[in-house]
Amino acid sequence: MRIIADLHIHSRYARATSKNSDLEGLSEWAKIKGISLLATGDFTHPEWFGYLRNNLEDLGNGIYKYRDIHYVIGGEISLIYERDGKTKKMHVVLLCPSFETAEQISELLGKFGNLSEDGRPTLKMDPMELIDAVDSVSKDIFVILAHIWTPWFSVFGSKSGVDSIEEAFGEKSERIGALETGLSSDTKMNWMVSRIDKYALVSNSDAHSPQKLGREANLLELEKLNYMNLAEAIKNKKGIVKTYEFYPEEGKYHYDGHRNCGVVMSPEEAEKNKNICPVCRRKLTIGVMHRVYDLADREYSYTPGGAPGFQYIVPLSKVISKALKVGETSQRVNEEYFRLIRYFGNEFSVYEADEEKLRLACSPEIADSIIRVNKGNIYWNPGYDGVFGDFSFEKKAEDRKNQKSLLDF
Ligand SMILES: [Zn+2]
Ligand SMILES: [Zn+2]
Repeated sequence: MRIIADLHIHSRYARATSKNSDLEGLSEWAKIKGISLLATGDFTHPEWFGYLRNNLEDLGNGIYKYRDIHYVIGGEISLIYERDGKTKKMHVVLLCPSFETAEQISELLGKFGNLSEDGRPTLKMDPMELIDAVDSVSKDIFVILAHIWTPWFSVFGSKSGVDSIEEAFGEKSERIGALETGLSSDTKMNWMVSRIDKYALVSNSDAHSPQKLGREANLLELEKLNYMNLAEAIKNKKGIVKTYEFYPEEGKYHYDGHRNCGVVMSPEEAEKNKNICPVCRRKLTIGVMHRVYDLADREYSYTPGGAPGFQYIVPLSKVISKALKVGETSQRVNEEYFRLIRYFGNEFSVYEADEEKLRLACSPEIADSIIRVNKGNIYWNPGYDGVFGDFSFEKKAEDRKNQKSLLDF
C-alpha cells in the first residue's frame, strides 16, 4: 500500500502553535491534504500525552487512529550539549512503538529538563546519552535528526552544529534511522554530501498549525501499515517511493543574511564579504546552502544510484493566490482552494495531476500557474535569516521591502 506520511508536527502544547492543533483539527486537515499517516507530535508533554491516550484508537500494532487518519506516536526534543568546549544544539524527532515505551522514555527524558513547559522540551543532554536512554527503553524507538541544516538547532547547523553525525553520536550513529532535510534544503543538496549517503532522507512539515501539514511529506510503500514495517521501510530506504519537497529557496534559512539589516547574500557573496554583514559589521547568519557547500564533496548535479526520488511542491493556496493576484487568506483563494480539493479529492492529488486534468479542472490562469510551479518555471527571492523565500512568475522578481543586495554597498 502507498501512503503519504508526515512524521514531524507539533500540537497545541508546543510554543507558537495554533490552538486548533488537536486531533480534531489535525485529522481534518490531514484528510484535506491527502495524508494518511501523521505523527502525533509532542508526546513528551504530559497533558497532550494523556489526551492522546484517551482519544486515539489503538490498532494494536504501534499505529493508532482518529477518524480516518492513522497516527504514530512521535515528538521532537531539543538537546543542548557540548563538543570541544563549545555549546551545541540539536533537534531530534523520536517515534515510539507504543504508549508504554513513550511513557518510559518520557520518564527518563524528564530528568534532563522540564517536559511540561513546551511540547518540544529543551533538555541538557548529550546525543550519546539520548541514544543510551532510548535503547534502555526499546531498540525499536526510531530516531530522526530534525531539519539537519538549519542554523540554530540542528546537527549540522552553522550556529549550533558539528561537521559529521559521528562527531555528535560516535559509535551510536547507527541508531539514527533517518535525516530530515528540512524546508531550506532539497534532496539534491543533500546528495552533494557523501558522508551522509548511508542515511535515509525524509521530509516532514514541522507544522505548527493544521493548515501547514504536508508542506513536505513522504510517499511510502508498505506491505502493511504497522510500526515495525514503517520503521524498517524508512531506515533501509526501500519503502520510500519519494519525498515531497519545498523548493529550497522558499525555506527561511536557504541563503545567508541578516533579517534586521535587510541583507541577503548567496554563499559566494557572503564569502567575498568574509561572512560579515556590511550594515552592522557582525557575522552573518550563515544559511543552509552555505553549510551544505562547506561539507559537500560533489556537484549539485550528482544523483546517487538507487536513492529514492523527490518532487517539488508549493502550497496550493499560495499558488492560487499568486495566480489570482490576491492575498493567500482571501475569500477568493479559499473558495478556489476548496473547489479544487472537492474536484481532486485532496491537495496531494492536485500535485499528482497531469496537465490535461489540471486544464479541465481549473481556470486557465490557475492551471497555468500550477503547471509552471510543477516545472520549476518560476523565479525565487530566496529565504534567509528567518525570512521565508517567495517566488514570482515574472522574471524580474519584485525586491523585498528593504532588501539590499551587495550592489547597494
Ligand atoms: Zn525543530
Ligand atoms: Zn547586520
